Amino acid sequence: MKYPRIQGLNTPIHTIYCIGKNYEKHARELGSEPPSSPMVFLKPLSSICFDGSRIQLPVQSSDIHHEVELVVAISKTGKNIPAEEAKEYISGFGIGIDFTARDLQQKAKKYGHPWSVSKGFDQFAPISHFISFNDSSIPDFNLELKVNGESRQKASTSEMIFGVQTLISYLSNIFTLEEGDLIFTGTPEGVSAVKAGDEVTATLNNGLTSLTVSIAK
Ligand code: MG
Repeated sequence: MKYPRIQGLNTPIHTIYCIGKNYEKHARELGSEPPSSPMVFLKPLSSICFDGSRIQLPVQSSDIHHEVELVVAISKTGKNIPAEEAKEYISGFGIGIDFTARDLQQKAKKYGHPWSVSKGFDQFAPISHFISFNDSSIPDFNLELKVNGESRQKASTSEMIFGVQTLISYLSNIFTLEEGDLIFTGTPEGVSAVKAGDEVTATLNNGLTSLTVSIAK
């Protein structure tokens, strides 16, 4: 197997961390209370794909949702990172879509099962070209997702319940972070189903970087 690399940073992708329910309005649109600490799950490497991909929807689901998210790339090994030092562990930012088989996820929630299947199908984690980062502070980003040119999700990362620094610190207290790790930081409200033939475009800061995928017919 050839391990996929983060475009723009040319680093092989390592572990894919994801944060659930990190925007209050999104938590509520799914009927959940916002969490009191970050809610973490993982996706497999086989879920990664890139700008221009044609996504083959899995036959096991009939309700697959887009979730646009800021994605953080980690630059070096880190454990127990204080939040104020977290920026030193960031190599870049990109935008990604956490595709979710909502019907399978709802069933998993009902039975208390893990989310791995509903979040982990092939091509369920498309990511853009990344913008490298070495600034003194982490900016707020605007996220937008359009389906066939129509805006479905639009928000600022300033609305995140747990910010990027907190997430890096929190994750590193559990897992040893490594160069090439990605963190999908959660989605704002407006998630909805995609269907065959749709074109889905996600943009960071009105075009700083963007990602377009099509849903196969
Ligand atoms: Mg998500």
